[in-house]
Amino acid sequence: MKKFYLLYTLLFLTTISFSQQLAPTGGGEFVFEKTECISTTERLHVKSVLQENTQKLKNEGKLTINKNAIVYFDWPLQKTADLEFNSYYAISNYVDQDASGSLRDYDCGMRTYDGHNGIDIYTWPFDWYMYENDLVEVIAAAPGTIIGKNDGEYDQRCSWANGLIANYVIIQHSDGSRAFYWHMKNGSITTKNIGESVVTGEYLGVLASSGYSTGPHLHFEVRDNNGNVIEPFQGTCNNLNNQSWWLSQQPYRKPTLNAILTHNDAPAMGCPAVNESPNFSTCFAPGDTVYTALYFRDQLFGEMTNLRLRRPDNSLFYSWTFNSNNTYDSSYWYWYWFLPSNGPFGLWTFEADYNGETFIHEFTYLNGDASPNMWTGPAIGNWHQNASYWSLGHIPTDCDYVIIPSGYEVTVQSGNTANCYALEVRTNADFNVMPGAEFHAIVGSD
Ligand SMILES: [Zn+2]
Repeated sequence: MKKFYLLYTLLFLTTISFSQQLAPTGGGEFVFEKTECISTTERLHVKSVLQENTQKLKNEGKLTINKNAIVYFDWPLQKTADLEFNSYYAISNYVDQDASGSLRDYDCGMRTYDGHNGIDIYTWPFDWYMYENDLVEVIAAAPGTIIGKNDGEYDQRCSWANGLIANYVIIQHSDGSRAFYWHMKNGSITTKNIGESVVTGEYLGVLASSGYSTGPHLHFEVRDNNGNVIEPFQGTCNNLNNQSWWLSQQPYRKPTLNAILTHNDAPAMGCPAVNESPNFSTCFAPGDTVYTALYFRDQLFGEMTNLRLRRPDNSLFYSWTFNSNNTYDSSYWYWYWFLPSNGPFGLWTFEADYNGETFIHEFTYLNGDASPNMWTGPAIGNWHQNASYWSLGHIPTDCDYVIIPSGYEVTVQSGNTANCYALEVRTNADFNVMPGAEFHAIVGSD
């Protein structure tokens, strides 16, 4: 019997070691700073502007109020089609329910700061990348009339400073309640005028960091028709209003894998944009370091993620698990790899099972040698025929080599030469392809 038990134990250990925990190389919690969103000075300014605007609109008969109307909100943000992340935001602060100086949010937690009157939704991950590329838009959560807006303010605030005003839009709803959309991008505010109406989901501006702000986020503040603060989320500790104002209220924690990515160096968060280095890459060659990374919103204590790297033929290269040892508003974790120098080459996959879903990210691993089987990667750019040459257009920022279709020879037009193969062009190690560089292919035949 003893022998049997020993054998059983060994088999069991072998089975579990097949997919074992592997501590991340790096990453951790991403903390969005908790600082005041609208200063007293700014509130006084906005108050006087609103008094003037609403009086004018009332005189023109453009601002009627039906106190019996009921207002419900849709989510006030959307990502554009260009953003390939699974999701794009996390929540740092709700309305502070405690007037005494302590912190309490609607769910009896402490995700707020003292005296906060709104909800802070920040973009995650790579908030400055999303800001620079206009990838997240602020949209009207409910229909109403524009009663205030401001544009033209600096929008890359990373630290809190006095005397600032945000790029903003204020909407009055049919019941007289108001929504304040704060911190948007310079030059992005809707061209609609004060007094014009908007429908639910209508574009208001691009999410940014103007006014009293330490990073790109939306401060979404709701006031009833008497000016009292509303917390749209209903929960045990909401002392302000009895009902949810959301059409469909999200849970307090919504565990989400916002993004599954690969990078050619460790991803760096920072502020302002210049200190953030996403290092996105989906193209790797032998000798490159492949960083596989996960970006979570509301990752919970004890949650397990199953991870896998698969070769181009779908066979398993490595599988591992990762357990969260805390609960985070936002967190990220990465592991790095050196793939075998002899391949296999082609389209690899990085997979994650999280919260009942499987997420897949593909990346290309290419050999430096020419081979008829190399045309396995994703298409990079589009070829355009010119008078005497073909042009690939702009090289994507995350690839330092391009693949040339069979039958074309390639010359690099400026500064340096590339190693030319019948099917593939790889630049020399000391040749830097800058984002926006062009490759020109002279049409020829082998
Ligand atoms: Zn706020």
